[in-house]
Amino acid sequence: MWDFETEPEFQKMLDWADDFVTQEVEPLDVAFPHLEYTPLSGPLRDIVMPLKQQVRDQGLWAPHLGPELGGQGYGQLKLALLNEILGRSRWAPIVFGTQAPDTGNAEIIAHYGTAEQKEKYLKPLLNGEVFSCYSMTEPHAGADPKMFTTRAVKDGDEWVINGWKFFSSNAKTADFLIVMVVTDPDVSAYQGMSMFLLPKDTPGVKIVRNLGVGDESGEHHSHALIHYDNVRVPADALLGGEGQAFVIAQTRLGGGRIHHAMRTIGLAQKALDMMCERALSRETQGSLLGDKQFVQGYIADSYIQLQQFRMFVMYTAWTIDKYKDYKKVRKDIAAVKVLLPQVMQDIAQRAIQLHGALGVTTEMPFVSMWLSGASLGLADGPTEVHKVTVARQVLHEYRPSDDLWPTGHLPKRKAAAQAKYASYFENEVGNQ
Ligand SMILES: Cc1cc2nc3c(=O)[nH]c(=O)nc-3n(C[C@H](O)[C@H](O)[C@H](O)COP(=O)(O)OP(=O)(O)OC[C@H]3O[C@@H](n4cnc5c(N)ncnc54)[C@H](O)[C@@H]3O)c2cc1C
Repeated sequence: MWDFETEPEFQKMLDWADDFVTQEVEPLDVAFPHLEYTPLSGPLRDIVMPLKQQVRDQGLWAPHLGPELGGQGYGQLKLALLNEILGRSRWAPIVFGTQAPDTGNAEIIAHYGTAEQKEKYLKPLLNGEVFSCYSMTEPHAGADPKMFTTRAVKDGDEWVINGWKFFSSNAKTADFLIVMVVTDPDVSAYQGMSMFLLPKDTPGVKIVRNLGVGDESGEHHSHALIHYDNVRVPADALLGGEGQAFVIAQTRLGGGRIHHAMRTIGLAQKALDMMCERALSRETQGSLLGDKQFVQGYIADSYIQLQQFRMFVMYTAWTIDKYKDYKKVRKDIAAVKVLLPQVMQDIAQRAIQLHGALGVTTEMPFVSMWLSGASLGLADGPTEVHKVTVARQVLHEYRPSDDLWPTGHLPKRKAAAQAKYASYFENEVGNQ
């Protein structure tokens, strides 16, 4: 069955979320533009906590998780429909309990954590009272995790971690870190790397500095360079089994990538909405912008690009629900990840252009939208690497030609077709 409609019951919840985000959450984006991943305090807590409660009352809190973890288990397709609404607002993921990197971190602790780890780290994370950090990239290597060198060495009942990690987002406000390290350098990285869970205040965890994106001012820089300097953790700090880091990372990143794509639909739609309003409002050289064919081209291209992207994201989400296995949907998750920055940057760029000088200013959100596209062309793996994944997966579905000429070579096909219909031709000749 092919069906592009949403069940009426869930549509009602989406309508509620749409209105709630517009009325209650988007104003937070302008009142408190610098989102800090930190337990809320003061007036901000008084404003945001009741909003979170309203989301809980609607059964929409942490919608990416199953009921056993306090979510609703709606599945990826319904999550996509909700996330495209949340993607419009920087604050919405916090208010709905779906913010990265905590979502992915929660998923892997839920999947691989022990009962004690779930009690200590997962429970407060899901309650929205603490935040977390995923510390994987290193200063000399990001796209190729096989090159990581941060090392954990066993010492009695403890592990001792030494090395450097780069771009560990939100480390400064996180309560705990998940760090990916080499535990056995003598086997392949696929078997020799492990993940550890540790409180951020563990002695030896040194945040050397925080990097900012774009022109963020210093106090808001949030991507940490961390020196793990003789950090001692107990044996039970290991997340999953020794040597399981790659498998765990794939579980985490598969979900993370598609969730970014879902939210990007909403952000790109917001840029398109603003572009259309401008086209109908601004007049120059005797007519509205919207009457000029160049501008119509911007709008048509943006609409078409966004619709294609949205359909692809929805289809991929539907396929994840069907197979319940990210690995089986690897090709399409990678393809969506390739499209995401392109769609976001193209549409934001056109929105900038259509708004003239105003478009590039800090009084409009387009530069930050464009930058979110650029960042997502790198975070969770650069576009080029995902293209390689797509190409490899596509090529798996084909076989080489078994002779000199391609299977589609017309003379070859013609000879085969003539052989297939030879008896008809022979009869025709016989009847003449
Ligand atoms: C906003 C943001 C948040 C992030 N948050 C985190 C986080 O919380 N935790 C964390 O661990 N990391 C995080 N990262 C880091 C991110 O995972 C890395 O940036 C990414 O893996 C790429 O690594 P790199 O930056 O070292 O680039 P490199 O590995 O040096 O690659 C640089 C460029 O080389 C090219 N390239 C690389 N490999 C190939 C290839 N196989 N074929 C062709 N070209 C290639 C691409 O153009 C690529 O962009 C974040 C990054 C950003 C931008």
